[in-house]
Amino acid sequence: MPDASALPLAGRTVLGIFAHPDDESLACGGTLARLADAGCRVVIVCASHGEAGSISDPALVPDGNLGDVRIRELREAAAVLGCAEVIVLDHPDGDLRWDHVPELHAELVSLIQRYRPDAVITFAEDGLYWHLDHIGVHERTYTAVLSFGAAAPPLYYVTIQSGVMREVVEAAHAKGGAPPNSSFWGIAPDAFGDGANPPTFVIDVRDWAVRKLAALRCHRTQMGPNNPMAWIDEDEARRWLGTEQFRRAPLDAAGDPMLELLAEITHAD
Ligand SMILES: [Zn+2]
Repeated sequence: MPDASALPLAGRTVLGIFAHPDDESLACGGTLARLADAGCRVVIVCASHGEAGSISDPALVPDGNLGDVRIRELREAAAVLGCAEVIVLDHPDGDLRWDHVPELHAELVSLIQRYRPDAVITFAEDGLYWHLDHIGVHERTYTAVLSFGAAAPPLYYVTIQSGVMREVVEAAHAKGGAPPNSSFWGIAPDAFGDGANPPTFVIDVRDWAVRKLAALRCHRTQMGPNNPMAWIDEDEARRWLGTEQFRRAPLDAAGDPMLELLAEITHAD
């Protein structure tokens, strides 16, 4: 067992704040795994139970309580990524932008006080694909971090590379796995990353892409046989899921850059 305290990010903490179980893996599962492997304590905060989502196979949810099943899936995915903790809040899936605004803000403020993160990751203004829940979590996280003034941790916004989800569909289709008009969770592939603000740096997670794919597949209720992610292989995961992109929020944050450090280290092909 290597000495964990000798790892480069030992003693650091990153909070990843998302809306639903599976957002963490899709948005930046590779970076979360890479941070964890570098010794960072990675804490995932999920604002809802994801109870309004689709169900790929009713047998997975025998008692009809999708939220409980999705929390279990999230915990499995977090374990695959090496995350230290999962915190599930209980705000209404589908109404995160409008409901419980002061409550979610206050919870995020208290989590930042409790964990004193060295960095916070959340959605950008585009919410990955203009999902209103994601945009709501972006807004609440921004205001929560902003409230710390000069003591705020660095805040990073993650976006999906435009065009990548179309490539995943084509890779799945090439092996008979997904029709050309396939969607992801009902979302057209071209919607992902469309109109997002450009990133300022990318993190090479090719060596973590297989774990990212495995974490995505832990979300079985969201991953039926028609989901193109169910079809891609390890090489395709490296190619299409192996780059994650970020932008640092414009805040007067005092914290040291952190994700930028990972961005400077790439891995040879
Ligand atoms: Zn989501």
